[in-house]
Amino acid sequence: MRRYATVVLDADSTLSAIEGIDWLAARRGEEVQRSVEALTAQAMDGHVALDQVYTRRLALIEPTSLDLHALAHAYIDTLAPGAADAVAALQAAGVAVHVVSGGLRAALLPMTRSLGIADDHVHAVEVELDDDGRFIGVVPTPLATQRGKPVVLDHLFLARPILAVGDGSTDAAMIPAVETFAAYIGFVRRDAVVARAALVLDSFSALVAHALSA
Ligand SMILES: [Mg+2]
Repeated sequence: MRRYATVVLDADSTLSAIEGIDWLAARRGEEVQRSVEALTAQAMDGHVALDQVYTRRLALIEPTSLDLHALAHAYIDTLAPGAADAVAALQAAGVAVHVVSGGLRAALLPMTRSLGIADDHVHAVEVELDDDGRFIGVVPTPLATQRGKPVVLDHLFLARPILAVGDGSTDAAMIPAVETFAAYIGFVRRDAVVARAALVLDSFSALVAHALSA
């Protein structure tokens, strides 16, 4: 009945409608938002390495514990339709559900817990805060780089076959590390990602129908 032993989900623009770092930048006002967007654009153009940009974007935003709490609420408020039912159905069928994200783990955990995903199945970027909840920095991780997701997957030794689902180029980078990559277009359709995907999913019910069919 289950076609995969593991399903790996992206978070931003897949499990939830928002992009967490953009959401935090917008909270800082127009100037920070513009600077963060400019850094993102430089990375997409290949002028700057994404890992360097990732750190610089967060240094501009300096998210506090209050910001991360607010972002956690925003993730839950913008949860993908059917995501909770899909995770429950997959897990009931014995499929391990993991989240592999370039987002901030502290802000993702309330959402993933609400979905019944164990904390040790959530792989994302850790932020260091001081005792007063002020930003210190980001713990270095491959997930803050363009091709970090397959690196992380290779170290997790997840049960196979694996289906990976996401909207972005960092998700498509998992193609060599998984049996099937599906482009999720429920929120954003990126043609370059769709072109590389073995299948295209426009909803979480479509994901369940694919993953649990005979
Ligand atoms: Mg995404």
